[in-house]
Amino acid sequence: MPSPQKIIVIGAGIIGASIAWHLQRRGASVTVVAQTIGGVATPNSFAWINASWGNPEFYFQFRHRSMAEWSRLAADLPGLPLAWCGGLCWDLTEAELDAYAARHHGWGYGIQPVNRATSTIIEPNLANPPDYALHIAEEGAVEPVAASELLLKDACRQGTVMLAGIEVKALLRKGNRIVGIETSQGAMHADHVVLAAGAGTAALAASADILVPLETPPGLIVHSRPTQKLLNGLVMAPHLHMRQTAEGRVVAGSDFGGTDPGENPESAARELFARVRTSLKGGEELEFDFHTIGYRPTPKDGFPILGGTDAAPGLYLAVLHSGVTLAPLVGLLAAQEIIDESQDPQLAPFRLSRFAQAGEGYGLRKSRDALS
Ligand SMILES: Cc1cc2nc3c(=O)[nH]c(=O)nc-3n(C[C@H](O)[C@H](O)[C@H](O)COP(=O)(O)OP(=O)(O)OC[C@H]3O[C@@H](n4cnc5c(N)ncnc54)[C@H](O)[C@@H]3O)c2cc1C
Repeated sequence: MPSPQKIIVIGAGIIGASIAWHLQRRGASVTVVAQTIGGVATPNSFAWINASWGNPEFYFQFRHRSMAEWSRLAADLPGLPLAWCGGLCWDLTEAELDAYAARHHGWGYGIQPVNRATSTIIEPNLANPPDYALHIAEEGAVEPVAASELLLKDACRQGTVMLAGIEVKALLRKGNRIVGIETSQGAMHADHVVLAAGAGTAALAASADILVPLETPPGLIVHSRPTQKLLNGLVMAPHLHMRQTAEGRVVAGSDFGGTDPGENPESAARELFARVRTSLKGGEELEFDFHTIGYRPTPKDGFPILGGTDAAPGLYLAVLHSGVTLAPLVGLLAAQEIIDESQDPQLAPFRLSRFAQAGEGYGLRKSRDALS
């Protein structure tokens, strides 16, 4: 029997955790190396699992597939803090909501138009329920740090080695192949290196002369103290996205990606929290606890970067916004691609090769239309 492939996963956020877990299930010899267990963007996420409006069909289908993969993961991991709580959405004009519903319904998304009376039944504590909204019962949320920790704990139980508190300083190359990593504790070698370091991905890739065009926009989220149940599911109101976490905190941003913290994050947080209070019946009882500012690891064209690159065999990249929605599918496909050396057709639009590399001009190589 061939010896298992030795694989280093850099990063222990929701993406690194999911990839490590799936690789371990496929019998690889996995070592996770990360500065922080549970991630950097991951703890600051709104953590809405969705395939909502604003994306072309190929990306919708990818996200929708990952929503189903969350249910598969929940069946394999008892205690996963996942809730298919549904989303009530009215953050568009009525005409835009209709266009969104028609398009996504045609793609197979479970959208139901609802009036004020039904909105009130779905979310009885809204101070000002919408006259017209869309209800998407199949949307959900997960507590992202607990999910990452559970994935890592289960992977370690099956043999994964977790090295936390270690900084990876560079990728190690032999010829053009990536053969390991240089860390604060010395060099480590492997058959494959998975780079799932969130916002830290671009710098590490650059250490091997690989350009990963990444932006890291900030997003501020407010958290109330835990309170009685006020929200049943996700609320996507104009300029206010909210949900209640498993421990009872109401969390909110002016958008799920977080509010722009601006020059004065404290005052942006207080202003946002004031809106949360007025939007809920009994909201005056809500107590502000803290705010977070997260930096979304967002490839320059907004779509994930997933897979290997001809420029550096042995390296597998996984960097994306919407990492919470996509974690189970990314983990599954990364493990398939690395272990089986197969290619999933749905990953074709997400390769690094769509961006130019050094010497080619630094930008998008193909048009967005060519991706769809
Ligand atoms: C405000 C906000 C709201 C969001 N809302 C949603 C949402 O509603 N739905 C959704 O799907 N997504 C959402 N996202 C995006 C999602 O949270 C991220 O895509 C996801 O958390 C990224 O996970 P990750 O594991 O790639 O990165 P991270 O969680 O950032 O983890 C990176 C890991 O890499 C390690 N690392 C980095 N550099 C090094 C190094 N040099 N050496 C060692 N270790 C290193 C870190 O220690 C960490 O363990 C949101 C993000 C933010 C900030």
